[in-house]
Amino acid sequence: MVLLGPPGAGKGTQARMLREVANVPQVASGDLLRAAVRTKTPLGVAAAGYMDRGDLVPDELVLNLIEERLNAPDAQAGFILDGFPRSVKQAEALRAILVRSRGAGLDRVIALTVPDEEIVRRISGRRTCRKCGAMYHVTFEPPRVNGVCDKCGGELYQREDDSEETVRNRLKIYDSTTRPLLDYYGKSGILALIDGTGKPEQVESRVQTALAGILPLPPRKKVQKPSVRPAGK
Ligand code: AMP
Repeated sequence: MVLLGPPGAGKGTQARMLREVANVPQVASGDLLRAAVRTKTPLGVAAAGYMDRGDLVPDELVLNLIEERLNAPDAQAGFILDGFPRSVKQAEALRAILVRSRGAGLDRVIALTVPDEEIVRRISGRRTCRKCGAMYHVTFEPPRVNGVCDKCGGELYQREDDSEETVRNRLKIYDSTTRPLLDYYGKSGILALIDGTGKPEQVESRVQTALAGILPLPPRKKVQKPSVRPAGK
């Protein structure tokens, strides 16, 4: 399945919650790219500038990364894509990859909807620890001491791509390039639009309702059957 939505809509949070229930990996293009930037692979070096500005990384860099990840053994029973595809062209490439490798398409696309101003509030308040990567929010999840990580004492900073200016650029790109995917997947009848506002658990329960029939059911409690029929029946 695919989780769609603007940056800050909660795709990562929902994907992490869902992967526990569905027992399939979360495949987040942003995380794959950030790992490549951190380890300074040639792909990471080429992608870094686009990411800092909040622009999309060119398809030829992203597609190989995704295909390789989807072909890994742990993704064979299924996967939750988060942050990919981000354009109709990427969606068509994904379809080709899936048909080629497993002869089947996507089961469901969940699109999280959140108003722009709420997104700017969510992302521009994010702070990340330089040392351990833990995330905080100045209003919704502040650290005990301003600017200091609760977990390791590291310095908290605002990621380049979390500044208000970059968030607004990312929202513009979402509108022009990613939003058309709602039409694309809407036509194939696998799209569910989900209200992404409120607490993560509230959104999770809406998402799970939309995935009824796809997610494995929780194990049923065993009911002890009487071994003999009651008298008279
Ligand atoms: P994310 O963590 O999903 O918000 O992604 C962070 C950044 O990585 C984005 O602002 C883009 O620069 C880049 N990125 C992530 N996914 C894609 C994608 N599917 N296509 C192009 N660029 C991407």
